[in-house]
Amino acid sequence: MRIVLMGPPGAGKGTQARRLAESTGMKHLSTGDMLRAEVAAGTELGLLAKSFMDKGDYVPDSHIIAMIEQLVDDPAGILLDGFPRTIVQAEALDEALEKVGLPIDKVVHMSVDTDELVLRLSNRAICKKCQTPYNLISNAPSKDGVCDNCGSEVIVRDDDKPEAVKNRMKVYEELTAPVLNYYRQRGNVAEIVATGTPDSVFEKLSQAIELTQSAG
Ligand code: ADP
Ligand code: ZN
Repeated sequence: MRIVLMGPPGAGKGTQARRLAESTGMKHLSTGDMLRAEVAAGTELGLLAKSFMDKGDYVPDSHIIAMIEQLVDDPAGILLDGFPRTIVQAEALDEALEKVGLPIDKVVHMSVDTDELVLRLSNRAICKKCQTPYNLISNAPSKDGVCDNCGSEVIVRDDDKPEAVKNRMKVYEELTAPVLNYYRQRGNVAEIVATGTPDSVFEKLSQAIELTQSAG
């Protein structure tokens, strides 16, 4: 299966994608995680990406497409999280999938109202190493500042600071909302309201994806 998870920053794509990957064996492809790994490793791409990410701007399409296009035919199936984020990326994805003869099975749009998003992002933290996401209020690490999963340091992302958050919301509306419409025209978008507990959202997500399977 090839699933695209879409939704604004803070919608919970990363949290749900990790769970879904774990329960289905599908490969979780998060461009945000990949870029943060490049930043942490101090690569040339990482250095370039950081200058965009810290402001809440998108990293140029060509870099993102190069990072993803070789990975789309993973036999385990793929779960795209944070990609495509622009029309150019969506077209590149179509092209890459067409080459290998594999369609997108479902696009799942996770919606959350803006007030809730801002609240979530202002309390968000992430493991510096394995990138497990936390919420400092509703889902804090059991030991302050230490990742439950790998024991590394849990930090606040630079792009979760208020100014960057505002810009990310704006960029999402401008560049990514049109991608949703691009997929809606094809009729393979499932809408889920991504509020409530992570368990209840996971339930809705699983249902949204099963619908596709029964439809072939
Ligand atoms: P979120 O969905 O919470 O905003 P991500 O971890 O998916 O966060 O992405 C963090 C940042 O990485 C984005 O704000 C952007 O700068 C960059 N990024 C991630 N994916 C893409 C992409 N597909 N195209 C351009 N930039 C991206
Ligand atoms: Zn960790």
